[in-house]
Amino acid sequence: PKGPMPSQAPWPKPAPPSAVKQRVQYGWTKEIRNKLRQVFKITDFRTNQEDAINATMEGKDVFVLMPTGGGKSLTYQLPAICTSGKTRGVTFVISPLISLINDQTRHLIKRNVPAIAYTGDLTAADKNLAHAELSRAEPYTKVVYVTPEMMSMGGRIKGIIRDLIRRNRLARFVVDEAHCVSAWGHDFRDDYIKLELLRKEYPSIPIMALTATAPEKVQADIKKVLGIEGCVMIQQSFNRPNLYYEVRPKLKKVMTDIADFIGVQPPGASGIIYCSSREKCEVLAKELRDKHNIQAWHYHAGMSKGDRRKVQEGWQDHKFSVIVATIAFGMGIDKPDVRYVVHHSLPRSLEGYYQETGRAGRDGHASTCLLFYSYADSKIVMQLIDRDANLDRNQKERQRNAMREVLRFCTNKTDCRRSQILAFFNEDFKREDCGQACDVCANLDQNKIQVRDVSDAAKMAINMVKAFGPRDRITLINAVDCFRGTNANSEKGFGQNPHFGCGKDWDRSEAERLLQNLLINQALGEFHTTNGAGWNNSYLKLGLEANAYLNGRKKLVMDFREASPRKTKASKSSAGRASGDGAGPIVPLAQRKKAAAKTTTALSRKRS
Ligand code: ADP
Ligand code: MG
Ligand code: ZN
Repeated sequence: PKGPMPSQAPWPKPAPPSAVKQRVQYGWTKEIRNKLRQVFKITDFRTNQEDAINATMEGKDVFVLMPTGGGKSLTYQLPAICTSGKTRGVTFVISPLISLINDQTRHLIKRNVPAIAYTGDLTAADKNLAHAELSRAEPYTKVVYVTPEMMSMGGRIKGIIRDLIRRNRLARFVVDEAHCVSAWGHDFRDDYIKLELLRKEYPSIPIMALTATAPEKVQADIKKVLGIEGCVMIQQSFNRPNLYYEVRPKLKKVMTDIADFIGVQPPGASGIIYCSSREKCEVLAKELRDKHNIQAWHYHAGMSKGDRRKVQEGWQDHKFSVIVATIAFGMGIDKPDVRYVVHHSLPRSLEGYYQETGRAGRDGHASTCLLFYSYADSKIVMQLIDRDANLDRNQKERQRNAMREVLRFCTNKTDCRRSQILAFFNEDFKREDCGQACDVCANLDQNKIQVRDVSDAAKMAINMVKAFGPRDRITLINAVDCFRGTNANSEKGFGQNPHFGCGKDWDRSEAERLLQNLLINQALGEFHTTNGAGWNNSYLKLGLEANAYLNGRKKLVMDFREASPRKTKASKSSAGRASGDGAGPIVPLAQRKKAAAKTTTALSRKRS
């Protein structure tokens, strides 16, 4: 079968496809290729796998940066069973979640690779067995999975490790999901910081760090904490060409929309629906079952271990197709044939979004990532951040900014989704390479969406907000009324505002969207009255970027849909403004490109 990474503009340094590349032959080249087929039943390496394997077989520190589903596990599992490398013995893998560890161990044992899951779940008797096994002159075990807690707890495991090292029977440490060491990452864990002990206490043992999280700050943290500054870096483009990205407005009928979406998937196709809370997971799964006759079950951290395992395994074994989960679900889940990931609620960051959607299509076949966006949802998230007692001010601001990035992503219908996501990883992705495999490219290419410069309207709206007094409590809805010139006699005195009615040819929902865009881009801000339970009301004020928009340094563009009935009004009014009060011309659409309609996108486009 074809690997999931068709060759594309490689990043950041061009590397010829492995088929063409002059490959150095190592003493272990034969062995790794044989065992790849015999043990893992895989015929070819994917991009970068062999390079990573060679580096660790040479006993070097390695940093493997590969997208989710890229096949990072193989880069240590295969070396672990080979005997011709420069290091020998057991491979220790530190992995953040017990469920993930159990999953991987099961996987290896199925392939007759002796592996131990050394976690807090082990009984005292099992622990004794593990210790006895690892103390043998030639341990039979190839891979030991441990949680970071176990590693830092000290006690017997440290003794075992030292003993293995003394006998030259510890081949390498592998730190899976290594981004967990970084406070910049989306998934920071205290116990991961303590992994600095690996290099400090066992300096002779090579370390391999694996992650799908690329921002440079995170990379730097990982290298520093693990003490692997001089490591071999293995990285590749983060694009996932087989994923189709789409953002849709979240309406009251969102559940019907989701059910319809699932309805056009291949029968029995597996999918994940992410939502924000445990209760929601349960409610949504039940609604899908009862009202839409879709076999869906919930999964979240509040369930008992046994229940979680039952659900996870049932889903993995195709006993039912849809899992409705909080983001606690999915890290490291090895299910290659997930055909879609639906976000019923907003992801908390673009990085998180990339990770979560990355669980789709690991087998390389076409899969869809569908996000339902509503501005109201973002307010709930902002409130949660605000009320989170575990976060200090900086962390809160960081999370709010991450959230704003998600909102800009959701409301940006001009830039290719891939370009937007990959820009986050410092990757310069050209939309020409998208092949219409996102809603933005597909719509722009079919001219369904027009993008207009609305900077002048934005200025008027900002000036209008500015003209209210600092103590005027103007909600977003008030501002829409005042902007459109309705409700002149409201007790808040809209009629007195010099800019009353400055947007009178705007339709209500578009005006609301304009103001939301100003909030998302921090041209406007909000202040809140609070009650014990959290925010009570939110009112508008000027934002940090207000002046940048007023003096024209920043521009605001908005998309307008052409075909639907309400749009007729919107486009008419925009045309009116174009001559009347100087709304800019239509922003030139990116060059149309007749990308060959790939099967990858056909399915998704049929629906829209
Ligand atoms: P991640 O990089 O997210 O940790 P995994 O190691 O879990 O990815 O691998 C994802 C899937 O890809 C697994 O099902 C794995 O068996 C499969 N896989 C890995 N390498 C190859 C390969 N060279 N050819 C085919 N399938 C592969
Ligand atoms: Mg993994
Ligand atoms: Zn695109």
